[in-house]
Amino acid sequence: MKLSTPKKIALLNQTTLDLLVEKNSLTIIGNFTETGLKIFEADFGFAWWKLGDENKYELAYKSLSTPYNPNLPRERGTSFEAIKNNEPLFVKSPRKEIEAYMKSYIIIPVSYDNYKYGSIVLCFKKKHIFTHEERGLALSLGTAAAQAVTFHRLVLSEKGALLVKEKLAEEKLKTEFIADATHEIRTPLAIIRGNVDLAHSKLKSEKSALKAINYEVKHLSHLLADLTMLTSREAEFNKKALTQTVDLLDIIKKTAKRAEVLAHQKNISIKIPSRLPPVHIKGDDAYLEKLLLNLVKNAITYGKENGWVKIGIEKNKNKATITVEDNGIGISDADIPHIFERFYRAEKIRDPEGKRTGLGLAISKWIVKMHRGTLTVSSTPQKGSIFTASFPFAAQS
Ligand code: ADP
Repeated sequence: MKLSTPKKIALLNQTTLDLLVEKNSLTIIGNFTETGLKIFEADFGFAWWKLGDENKYELAYKSLSTPYNPNLPRERGTSFEAIKNNEPLFVKSPRKEIEAYMKSYIIIPVSYDNYKYGSIVLCFKKKHIFTHEERGLALSLGTAAAQAVTFHRLVLSEKGALLVKEKLAEEKLKTEFIADATHEIRTPLAIIRGNVDLAHSKLKSEKSALKAINYEVKHLSHLLADLTMLTSREAEFNKKALTQTVDLLDIIKKTAKRAEVLAHQKNISIKIPSRLPPVHIKGDDAYLEKLLLNLVKNAITYGKENGWVKIGIEKNKNKATITVEDNGIGISDADIPHIFERFYRAEKIRDPEGKRTGLGLAISKWIVKMHRGTLTVSSTPQKGSIFTASFPFAAQS
C-alpha cells in the first residue's frame, strides 16, 4: 500500500506520541524501525544501539522479515560513519557478503545534536532510487527516534530523582519522629525511676513518690494513645474514612456535651450554633469527633476562667467550615508556625492530669488532611484564638 507524504509524516508523529510513555529505549528504536519500513516500503530492517561511550554497537532490533543475522557494524563501517556525521547514508551498491540479500539500503542515524544513540538500517531487496522526499523523511525519522529516547530518559531520571528525594524526606521524618517520641517517653520513665529511688532511700515519702509516679504513668498512657493515633496507617484510614456521610452539626453537639465537665471546672461556657440544618460531609465520625474534641479541649485549657468557647459552622457551595474560638491566652506570632508540629508545646501551663502531649494539634491536622481539608489558626496574645477546619466538597467526592 502506497502512503502519501502527509500520511507518512502523520505515521511518524504517531510513533513519537505512542512512545513518549514507553518503558524501554530498545522498544522505542524497534518501533521506529517498523515505522521506517512502512514509510520507505523497505523489505526488512534492523537497528544498532550504541554501548556506553565507546564506538561499539549491539543489535537492538531486527524485523521478522530480515533474511540473515546482521553482523555488528565494523569500526569505520558505514553505520559508524552515518552516526558520526549525523547524516543518513544511502547505499546503492552493498559490499559482497550482503549483496545476496539486498541491493540498496539506508542507514539512518538515531541522533540529534550531541545525542547519538545508534542507527536504523532499512534494506531493499531490489535496487532503490532514493527520492528527495525520502532523504528528508530519513532525517526526520532518525531525529524523532532520538528525541523520543532522550525524552524517555529524562522522564525516567527525573522520576527516579523525585522518588529518591521523596523517600529520603520520608525517612528523615520517620527518624525525627522516632527520636522525638522516644525522648518524650524517656522523660516520664526517668522521673518514675527517680521517684522509686527516692522512696527507697527514704528521701521522699512513699506517698508523694507514688503520686509523682501516678502522674507520669497517666501521662505516658495519654502519650501512647496519641502516638497510636498518629501512627495508625493512613492507607487503612483511606479505605474506610471517606465513605460514611457525617453530619458535622451532630458532631459539634456531641463534642460540646463531652467537653462540658472540663469547661465547668473553669466556669467556661461553650456556645454552639442552634437550630441549623445538618451539614453533611464524607468522612469518619470517630476521627472528626476526635478532631473537634482536641480543638475544644485546647480552647478550654488555654482559655481564661469565666471565659467562653464558641463553636461555629458555615456551609457554602464549595465547602463546610468549622471554627473553634476562645477568648483565652492566645498564641504568640513566634509560636504559631510550630504549634501543629508533633510534641511542640508553647505554653507551660498547669497540667494536673498529665494530658498535654504536644500531639493534639498534629493529630488534628492529620485528621483534617485525611478528609482533604485544611486546618488553620489565627490568634492574638491575651485576646484569644480561632481554629478553622475547612472541608471542600469537591475534593471529597
Ligand atoms: P498540647 O498537648 O500541648 O496542648 P497541642 O498540639 O494540642 O498540644 O497544642 C500545641 C500547643 O499549641 C500548645 O502547647 C499550646 O501552647 C498551643 N495552643 C493550642 N491550642 C491553643 C489555644 N486554643 N490557645 C492558645 N494556645 C493554644
